[in-house]
Amino acid sequence: MNLPLYGLVEAGGTKFVVGIAASPEDIRETARFDTISPDETIGAAVSWLKAAQSRNGALSSIGIASFGPVQLNREAANWGHITSTTKAGWSNSDFAARVERELRLPVGFDTDVNGAALAESRWGAGRAQPICVYVTVGTGIGGGAIIHGKPLHGLSHPEMGHIRPPRHPDDLGFAGSCPFHGDCLEGLASGPAIKARWGMSLSELAPDHPAHEIIAWYLAQMVVTLQSIMEPGRIILGGGVMGTPQLLDRVRNSASELGKGYFIGKPQEIIVSPGLGDKAGLLGGLALAKDILA
Ligand code: ZN
Repeated sequence: MNLPLYGLVEAGGTKFVVGIAASPEDIRETARFDTISPDETIGAAVSWLKAAQSRNGALSSIGIASFGPVQLNREAANWGHITSTTKAGWSNSDFAARVERELRLPVGFDTDVNGAALAESRWGAGRAQPICVYVTVGTGIGGGAIIHGKPLHGLSHPEMGHIRPPRHPDDLGFAGSCPFHGDCLEGLASGPAIKARWGMSLSELAPDHPAHEIIAWYLAQMVVTLQSIMEPGRIILGGGVMGTPQLLDRVRNSASELGKGYFIGKPQEIIVSPGLGDKAGLLGGLALAKDILA
């Protein structure tokens, strides 16, 4: 018997990763494209999926985990669009509905971080937890929460990167880099915010540079905020900035100090790296593709 096959799209602001898989352990093919314009890049992804389908057999559905913000309301006329993004040329671009039309397959669509959170909760570091949160710390900061198996959606998807942490006492001179809020978490602790202050990435700065403790402290503020709101069993931290040596431990230590032992879980157990490594995003596409058929 042939296993059902799914088409996966991890749509990032700098690159798209596409793939065909039957399960997390059975990824048949992948490819990547630079994110240029919606027409070129979504077009390239659709063409690749069509060609991959003829090589591998018919697909059952497609899952797209996309950079945002995106319209997730199926009732809305612009469902599946990327909405008001700061990425040039991509605002109000039709994405999921176009893929659905061109491939004539059901499309599961959510944010990149909700997709990664879903994959981690199902197959990775968040398994068996009633609530798990995935946060990426990179070019931007974004997070998704899975609550009893489902991504948290309100009027839209969460925007966890835009919470407002207190200012670190040794970091009062920087206005912050978020075009909307200045010194929100993303404006203070994302890759571009780090470069704007110190001229290089966190991993390029000497291990004893104060930036390490400052960034860890901001991320720890987010951790205790998330614990205060929903006591997640796991807060999974991914993204390029989290690749900085020792950063995960610094966040744990800082969260431990800020939490004062008040929250249920120990930071060492709660704050973890992605269990699926750099596949969390693409496997988010798999989880979304499966769920649209459920
Ligand atoms: Zn902001």
